[in-house]
Amino acid sequence: MERIVDIEKFDAEYTEEVSLRPTSWDEYIGQEQIKKNLKVFIEASRKREEALDHILFFGPPGLGKTTISNLIAVQMNAQIKTTAAPMIEKSGDLAAILTNIEEGDILFIDEIHRMSPAIEEILYSAMEDFRLDIIIGSGPAAQTVRIDLPRFTLIGATTRAGMLSQPLRERFGMHFRMQFYSAKELGEIVRLASIKLNKITVDKASYEIAKRSRGTPRLALRLLRRVRDFSEVANEHEINMKTTKYGLDQLGVNDLGFDEEDIRLLELLISAKGRPMGLSTIAAALSEDEGTIEDVLEPYLLANGYIERTARGRVATEKSYIHFRLSPPQTGTLL
Ligand code: ADP
Repeated sequence: MERIVDIEKFDAEYTEEVSLRPTSWDEYIGQEQIKKNLKVFIEASRKREEALDHILFFGPPGLGKTTISNLIAVQMNAQIKTTAAPMIEKSGDLAAILTNIEEGDILFIDEIHRMSPAIEEILYSAMEDFRLDIIIGSGPAAQTVRIDLPRFTLIGATTRAGMLSQPLRERFGMHFRMQFYSAKELGEIVRLASIKLNKITVDKASYEIAKRSRGTPRLALRLLRRVRDFSEVANEHEINMKTTKYGLDQLGVNDLGFDEEDIRLLELLISAKGRPMGLSTIAAALSEDEGTIEDVLEPYLLANGYIERTARGRVATEKSYIHFRLSPPQTGTLL
């Protein structure tokens, strides 16, 4: 079943008639500290007429890692080539990409934690010394071919900073952790997007969508599109509060942006009555893979204090019990 709050990329983002992706810093709402720092580093490297240092963005899906990387390219007047680590299977794939980039260009690698160790090795010297050492052939006849590369900027994006190897992480000069967005910021994102969609959303309705978007722009925009459908079918010239609430309820998104999957996870942890539950047990109980639980389900619940991660497993916090109008287990058993 399609999950409305599933934060993975979805086709409409690429195929719809109107792109909602910000094209300037002003349209890129929030992440203020990151923007502020980046602007300084961009200006400095432009003054020195040098490529920008390699950058690593980490954080849950849909928080704007790809979008900000594209904005950096615009600011640097550089071209950006986009790929994802699982698409680079052989050293030749990486060589083909790197030998096609020009001085100052940006290579964006999504899901960089999924890079194979062999490719990662090759990437080290590309990042550090701007050269590629490729081994051609095998056994005694194997030969190393060295190719010099132009100075480029690698931007890596990952949902799992912890899965990145230490040497790879160290080769990025800048590390940025993306934050979940406040409802106010998401409300502004929804407001700007609805102007682009040529359908005004009243402020209260934008805020309602924002509140139920789990701090995630991708989700806010998806909910906006769906609510717009409800509004159009009802022949309304603007998106109002009543239709928004109705639409969101129909989509199964509750007041806090929780959907069925979140609720199943919270109920499961609550049923353990304060005993920590391991990731594999949770995955088995929810018939979901561990990666999705860690990358997609948990970060928002953790960031907002609904669950806690301990050395022995996950527990529901008092806030979760209160949300479900239950009384928490006796003090001492609950974290
Ligand atoms: P990620 O790469 O982190 O998965 P994306 O950069 O693809 O996320 O962002 C998902 C969608 O959310 C994009 O289509 C973009 O339009 C929107 N978006 C992300 N961040 C912002 C932001 N700060 N301001 C406005 N829109 C944003």
